[in-house]
Amino acid sequence: MNIIIFGPPGAGKGTQSKFIVNKYNLHQLSTGDLLREEIKNKTELGSKISSIINSGELVSDTIVTNLIEKFISNNDYKNKIIFDGYPRNLTQAKTLRELLSQYSQKIDLVLKLSVSLDTIKKRISERRSLENRVDDNEETAIKRYKTYERSTEPVIEY
Ligand code: AMP
Repeated sequence: MNIIIFGPPGAGKGTQSKFIVNKYNLHQLSTGDLLREEIKNKTELGSKISSIINSGELVSDTIVTNLIEKFISNNDYKNKIIFDGYPRNLTQAKTLRELLSQYSQKIDLVLKLSVSLDTIKKRISERRSLENRVDDNEETAIKRYKTYERSTEPVIEY
């Protein structure tokens, strides 16, 4: 079973994904986590993307597509993926469709978490003290929420 989990930043996609992963023996594919890992390890890619992530914008489709293809093409993860934070725009959704069909897979379920901007602001400030994420400040949170409304919400219809 492959699942996509949608929701604005701070809605709890990561938290809920971890529950689902444990219960159904799936693998979480969080593009955000993979990108943060690159920054933490100070890789060449990490240095390119850190300012974009801090600004609340999306990194390029090519970068995230490379990351997810590694997962989709890996037989250990076949039909066992929960996509957390991907796709985030229509181009990514179309790429995902093509990649899945190339590797004889499909999406079985789409979950959407709905949370208001007020609640998100509260959660982000709590998470900032727990996880110390550089992009968890109110200004970036609002920008990321707007990016979600503009680029990601249309994917749900698709
Ligand atoms: P997240 O942890 O999913 O909220 O992602 C944190 C940040 O990583 C986002 O605000 C984006 O800058 C970047 N990011 C994560 N996933 C994607 C994606 N699928 N496409 C583009 N940028 C992404």
